[in-house]
This record gives sequence, structure tokens and C-alpha cells, in this order.
Amino acid sequence: MRSVLITGASRGIGAAAATAFARAGCRVMINYCSSTDKAEELCDRLRKGGSEVYTIQADVSRPDEVRKMFFQAEKLCGGTDILINNAGIAQTKLFTDITDEDWNRMISVNLSSAFYCCREALPHMIRQHFGRIINVSSMWGQIGGSCEVHYSAAKAGLIGLTKALAMEEGLSGITVNCVAPGVIETDMISHLSSEDKKALMEETPTGSLGTPEDIAGAMLFLASDSSSFITGQVIGVNGGFVV
Ligand code: NAP
Repeated sequence: MRSVLITGASRGIGAAAATAFARAGCRVMINYCSSTDKAEELCDRLRKGGSEVYTIQADVSRPDEVRKMFFQAEKLCGGTDILINNAGIAQTKLFTDITDEDWNRMISVNLSSAFYCCREALPHMIRQHFGRIINVSSMWGQIGGSCEVHYSAAKAGLIGLTKALAMEEGLSGITVNCVAPGVIETDMISHLSSEDKKALMEETPTGSLGTPEDIAGAMLFLASDSSSFITGQVIGVNGGFVV
């Protein structure tokens, strides 16, 4: 049975991924930062369905907390076979209003976290000559989003990290890929008005917004044995918004 650690899995895309991987028969570790109740409720629900699931609290923007999280993962599951770097924050601001604090927080939660988590996960993956790393970028990391320069820069950085690490780990049986979601119905877009959402839908070739389950499906594929020849790729799950 493979073990998957999903960062930021208390809500949204991460929670859908935890559900999908539990249903697929994986041992699931749900990382969360502040939503303890949501993480515990999800864990209970999946356990009732017969899955082996754990919660691990850690702020993944902090290397000391990430180290402790992987120590716990080792104790609970003997290591992490599949790592999904999903935790993220967004912020909409004019470029000229972005403060040093905004910038540093955005980079540390969305990009440095993946560096810290990959660094802790890799020794186990290298030892067993198998691993799957899936980084959650964004279509804004591919094409740039106005009023989201710091977010776009962090998500573009994740694409660079993915491509370079995929090259370095190719011979180790470890694949490293990115999923780049389009607009997905989660708390992250709750600030958008219904008019904004309608406009985004109209801009999307499928005429719809995505669901967390759409992203979880792509993650399941990238974690499967069927994807062993796919590495260093960015898989857009965006209804055709970016082609
Ligand atoms: P969400 O509903 O806002 O959930 C964010 C998750 O990240 C929560 O579980 C949150 O945990 C966790 N998180 C935030 N900061 C963290 C930290 N420092 N340490 C650990 N966990 C942390 O967002 P979402 O829409 O599911 O987004 C998931 C990923 O998809 C993000 O990387 C996001 O950038 C990306 N994405 C989303 C969209 C979209 O339209 N929704 C589009 C493109 C990309 P707590 O609640 O426990 O703090």
C-alpha cells in the first residue's frame, strides 16, 4: 500500500485529493495549517470508509515544521511514497501595493514549502527507487495573472523546480510533475463576485469552472504506475483556458 502526503489537505483541492487517494487504496496523510476541525472531520469520514488516514499539523512555509512533519510521516507510514505539494495562498493586489511581507509570505507558502517538502521526502524515495512528486502550480504561473504578480511568480517558480528536479531524479525512479489548475471552485476564489465567475466561465472554452475533483483525478493519474514515463511536465487542468 502506497503512502501519500498531501499538504494543505484540510479544504478544497487538497481535501478532494485526500478523498480520491483514500478511495484508491492509499494510506493518506492530511497536512493542514490552521483548519484543525476540517482536517479531523475529513480524516474521520475517510476512516469510516475503511481507509488508513492520519492528520499532521504543520506550517509548510517553515523548514523546522516540515522536518517534524516528515519525521511523523516516517513513524506513521514508514515514509512518503507520493508527495503532493498543494498548500497555497493567493492574494489580489496591484503590483505597486505588494509589500515585502506580502512577497515573502507568498514565496514561502507557495514555493519554498515545496523545496522543504521535496528535500525531506527524497531520501526515502531514493532508497526505495520509487517516488511521485506532484506540485500544484496554476495557469497564472504559465501565463501570468494581472494583480497577482507575486502569486504568478511563485507558481512559475514551482514549474522551474519541477522541471529541474525531474531531470535530477530521473534515474532514481522518481517522477516530478506539475498540475496547473485553471479556475477551481474552492474557498480560494470565494472573493470573486458571481459576475466575475460568469466572466471567467465565458472565457473558458468548456464554459465552466473546474471542481477540486477534476484536479484530484489528474493527480491520481500522475501518481499511478501508468504515468512512469511522464516527468518534468506541466499538466493543465483548466477547461482549455490555456492551450
Ligand atoms: P483553499 O481552498 O484556500 O485551501 C488552501 C489549503 O492550503 C488549505 O488546506 C490550507 O490549510 C492550506 N495552507 C495554506 N497555507 C498553509 C501553510 N502555510 N501550511 C500548510 N497548509 C497551508 O485553496 P485551493 O483552491 O484548494 O488551492 C489548493 C492549491 O491549488 C493551491 O496551491 C492553489 O494556489 C492552487 N490553485 C488553486 C486554484 C483555484 O482556482 N482554486 C487555481 C490554481 C491553483 P488550513 O486551512 O489548515 O490553513
